[in-house]
Amino acid sequence: MEKRGNYPKRYRYTEKETDRIIEILEIIEEYRKASEINETLDCINNELLFGTGEINYVTRCKRQTCPLCRENRKYKTYLKLKEKINEQNGIRYILMTFNGREINDLSKLSKEVGENNDIVAKIIRKRSIQAIMLGYVKIVEISYNKYSKRLLPHIHLLLGVREDFKKYWIRKKEIEKLEKTWKKWKKEAITNAIDVKIIKDTDEDIEKVLRYITVARKKRIMKLDDMEIRAFFEMINDRKRLFTTSGIFK
Ligand SMILES: [Zn+2]
Repeated sequence: MEKRGNYPKRYRYTEKETDRIIEILEIIEEYRKASEINETLDCINNELLFGTGEINYVTRCKRQTCPLCRENRKYKTYLKLKEKINEQNGIRYILMTFNGREINDLSKLSKEVGENNDIVAKIIRKRSIQAIMLGYVKIVEISYNKYSKRLLPHIHLLLGVREDFKKYWIRKKEIEKLEKTWKKWKKEAITNAIDVKIIKDTDEDIEKVLRYITVARKKRIMKLDDMEIRAFFEMINDRKRLFTTSGIFK
């Protein structure tokens, strides 16, 4: 369990973190017109007042769209998924990552994310996946490459699969098929488009993956680049679902 940050109610942000929150607040204000974010702005302002000691308690907005409350939600999600995984017996896990096109412009983001979502939905319905799958967690993320100044929308898909999945699903062959499918539906070849990891059947390895897709430090709001925060709000304005579960994970 991480000691800091997961409980902003009790945790006073450092001066550096507070400065970052103010910057994030400025970015969010750009989206004020497009979405109803007044409660979120209040929530963040309260957090700042709490940090300076001007108020002694914080009322959180608990909105899905609030970057601070989202940190709490992510932690709850992590706990919930962990609980679901602990309930299972003899299940294996596969983590698939699908990379979309890198884009240089926020205005192209929605279309790209929408297309990635549609393709992954079609992939999930494929017979080869349906034959082994017991449930999935789907997470839409947008990362930003500071050097190339491009956004990379991608999808993490954690599949819970039958223990004997290897009888029906030959790794090398299936990855080749996935790459072909992705290329066909994206209508172009994307470098490193797909990554597939069969998670080792140890508590430690499963825990690592679970943290990677939920509470990983580098994905915490304070660590995000301005462009990643903008991308997040673009998605919210567009009512894109960033987190979906099915089957055993529900
Ligand atoms: Zn909030």
